[in-house]
Amino acid sequence: MQEYLKHPVFKVVSAICAEDGLQAYVIGGFVRDIFLQRKNSDIDIVVLGNGIHLAEKTAKRMGGLNVTVFKSFGTAMFRYRDTEIEFVGARKESYNRNSRKPIVEDGTLEDDQNRRDFTINALAISLNKSDYGQLIDPFNGIHDLNEGRIRTPLDPVITFSDDPLRMLRAIRFAAQLDFFIEPVTFDSIIWNRDRLSIVSPERITEELNKTVLSPKPSIGFKLLDKTGLLQDILPEIQLLKGIESVNGKAHKDNFFHTLEVLDNVACNSNDLWLRWAALFHDVAKPATKRFDSTLGWTFHAHNHAGAKMIPDIFKRLRLPLNEKMKFVQKLVYLHMRPIALVEEEVTDSAVRRLLFDAGDDIDSLMTLCEADITSKNREKIEKFTRNFKTVRRKLKEIEEKDSIRNFQPPITGELIMETFNLPPCHQVGIIKTAIKDAILDGVIGNNYDEAYRFMVEKGRTLGL
Ligand code: ATP
Repeated sequence: MQEYLKHPVFKVVSAICAEDGLQAYVIGGFVRDIFLQRKNSDIDIVVLGNGIHLAEKTAKRMGGLNVTVFKSFGTAMFRYRDTEIEFVGARKESYNRNSRKPIVEDGTLEDDQNRRDFTINALAISLNKSDYGQLIDPFNGIHDLNEGRIRTPLDPVITFSDDPLRMLRAIRFAAQLDFFIEPVTFDSIIWNRDRLSIVSPERITEELNKTVLSPKPSIGFKLLDKTGLLQDILPEIQLLKGIESVNGKAHKDNFFHTLEVLDNVACNSNDLWLRWAALFHDVAKPATKRFDSTLGWTFHAHNHAGAKMIPDIFKRLRLPLNEKMKFVQKLVYLHMRPIALVEEEVTDSAVRRLLFDAGDDIDSLMTLCEADITSKNREKIEKFTRNFKTVRRKLKEIEEKDSIRNFQPPITGELIMETFNLPPCHQVGIIKTAIKDAILDGVIGNNYDEAYRFMVEKGRTLGL
C-alpha cells in the first residue's frame, strides 16, 4: 500500500509517531477512494493519543502551517496546498436516543473503526514504522468495494438508530458510486425510517445535494422511494408516482419521467440548481391533473403552479432563498416554452420572446427542455431533436442580430411622459408595452430611432 501514500504528510506523521511513541493511521474516505481510484483531497488521520498535539507538531514540521483547532471535538486540521488534513484521537462512541451527537471517550483503533458508518469507510492504513502502509480491514471492506456493496460494520439497526443521517449517507454513496445496499442494511433503513426526525434539515439537505450531484441521481431517488424516506423528505416528489387510468387512457408515471429528466440533465450539466430544477419541473402535475373526455389527461398551467410551490419547498429544505431559488422557479415556469415552440413552426418572433423571458438562463433552459424529451417514440424524439437544433440556431442568430438576451427597452417611461406631457399613468404603460412587443415581434429594430418613431406614432393613435 505504500505506493498510495504519496502525500508528504504521511512520512512526517510517521516520523513524529516514532519519536513520540504514538500510533497513527489514515482512515475513512481517503483510503476508500484509493481503491476506487477517485480523487480525494480530504485526508483523515486517526491517532491513538492526542490528535491536536500531533496536528500542531506535523504542521510545524511541514513549514509552519496554520492549524485550526476544534477543541470541543478534539480535532484539528490544516491545509497543505489543495489537501485538507484532519487529525482526531481514536474514539469510542455511545449514543442516547434523542440526539445523533455521540458521547465520546478515548478508544482503540478497533473502537474507532467500529464507529464508522460503512465497511468501505472503515478501512485504515498504518502510518507506523513497524508496519507502515499495511491495510487494516476488519470488516472485509475491500470485498464490499469489489462487489459494489454498502454494508454497516456492526448491526445496521443499531447503527442507523444511533445516527439516522447514516441512512441518507448510504443512499448518497449508492448514487455516487453506483453501489447497491446490502439487503439487511437496506431493511434496517426501512425499519428506522422514523428516526430521521432527529436529523436537522440542513444535514438532510447536504446529503440530498450530494445525491442530486451524483453521476446518476435516479439511483438515489429510487432508493429514497423504496425505503420510504422520500415520503418524509420530499412528499411532493413522492406524489408524482403512479399511473391513473380513465376509460383505458393512462397518463405516464411522472416520478419515473422526472428521474429520467434529472439523469438526462446530469449527463450534460453539473449545475446543482439546474439539476434541482429538473427534479421539480413537473412538481405541480399532481395538483393540476384533470381528465377531460375529449382532451384526455391535462396538467393545465402546472408550470405556473410548480414555480409557486418552490419557495415553500426551499424554505423547508433550508435551501437558499436567493437568486438560486429564483433561477429554479424561472426554469420550472418556463420549462414548457421551448417544447411548445418546436411543436409548431419556429418563428423569429417566438424565439425573440423566449430569449427575452429567459435572459441569461436560456442555455440552462434549453438543456432542461432537451432532457425533458423522454418519449419512447423514435420518430417523435428525432423530430423534437431536429427542431431543438433549429431553435438553438435561431436563438444564436437572433441574439447576434438583436441582443434581446438582456433587453432594456430603448425608450424609458420618463421619455414617454416627457414627450406627451403625461403624469405617471396607465397610458405610459400601454406605450411601453407596445414598444417592447413591436421589438420582440420584429416590427421594429431594437434601437432608439426606430423605437422613438414608433412611440410618436403610437401616441398619435391614442389621441395624445
Ligand atoms: P465525502 O467526502 O464524499 O463526503 P467521506 O467518506 O470522506 O466522503 P466524510 O463525511 O468526509 O465522508 O467522512 C469521513 C469519514 O468519517 C467517513 O469515511 C466515515 O468513515 C466517517 N463518517 C462520516 N460521517 C459518519 C457518520 N455519520 N457515522 C459514522 N461514520 C461517519
